[in-house]
Amino acid sequence: MIDTKRWNIENREVDNYSQALEEAASLLKGGETVAFPTETVYGLGADATNHQAVTKIFEAKGRPQDNPLIAHVATKEQLRQLVDHIPSYVERLMDVFSPGPITYILESNGTCADNVTAGLSTVGVRIPDHPVARDLLLACDVPVAAPSANLSGKPSPTTANHVWDDLNGKIAGVVDGGATGVGVESTVLDCTQDIPIILRPGGVTKDQLEEYVDTVMVDPALANQHAKPKAPGMKYRHYSPEVPLWLVDGSAETIQTLIDDERKKGNKIGLLASNKWLEHLSADEEISLGDTIYDVATHLYDGLRTFKEGNIDLIICEAFPEDGIGQAVMNRLKKASSDYLKL
Ligand code: AMP
Ligand code: MG
Repeated sequence: MIDTKRWNIENREVDNYSQALEEAASLLKGGETVAFPTETVYGLGADATNHQAVTKIFEAKGRPQDNPLIAHVATKEQLRQLVDHIPSYVERLMDVFSPGPITYILESNGTCADNVTAGLSTVGVRIPDHPVARDLLLACDVPVAAPSANLSGKPSPTTANHVWDDLNGKIAGVVDGGATGVGVESTVLDCTQDIPIILRPGGVTKDQLEEYVDTVMVDPALANQHAKPKAPGMKYRHYSPEVPLWLVDGSAETIQTLIDDERKKGNKIGLLASNKWLEHLSADEEISLGDTIYDVATHLYDGLRTFKEGNIDLIICEAFPEDGIGQAVMNRLKKASSDYLKL
């Protein structure tokens, strides 16, 4: 067990802001792991140039060794230091979307340790758009490898408490900068060819990208579960809540019938849905994901974590239209669910 430090710095005005970030940065530079907020989810950081430090991330999370990590930096200049070559369309995308929820897969120049890239020739690089992440990265002055700060397989963390629940005692520290905003992870974009390919849908949508590049492809594995995904991490089951989850598409009437039938069998039902659904339905426990699809993205992981074994036997969750950020939401929900019912 490690004694996990926790710094509460919900905003830049708190007195201990600079001191907290200096302590966190010095742990990172010393080869330790520290979790910190980004605009997407909390990341678990380690010095990306230090093989041994990066090993600690895999150990704390129980992450499979063949799943590469994203290197986080504060500036475009720092990003350039990690890669061989940046295609002109990536320069255009970076001008618009970075800092922001997008990861570019580019040929690595070998600066990041080989366990960051899981032995691949490419490296994922991202500039997060969160003041705490940015200030911490500037204070470290090294690239920071940072996957989501959850135990592998569980829903990603969107608050410091989520990180604490999963990793207290296993990591050196958590910087608590409040709840994250976007709520789903970055878009992973393979930029090693002339035409970019979305390997994981995320905070920046295909439509947004297509305003700046003519064609954006989507990894066929995202639509076809039998195809081998190009992002190693996409083959794993992920985001799993404690109890089974059914993703459901239907009318208020058919869904309520499903809930009632399951309750008659003695199952306690947790309902995870937007307010539009909740108005018309009732179950044993209800968690609102808000009104818009952006609200849904923001609250999704907290919702998945809130239903506990013992209280609830089955989660019934609304299926959302798969456009815009809805693509990322549905990608995560399909992985979290054991069934997808179209009633
Ligand atoms: P996480 O940091 O937990 O949000 O996961 C990062 C995602 O990016 C995983 O799905 C990885 O497989 C993917 N990824 C990271 N680096 C690469 C890379 N060099 N090539 C392809 N996919 C990558
Ligand atoms: Mg993750």
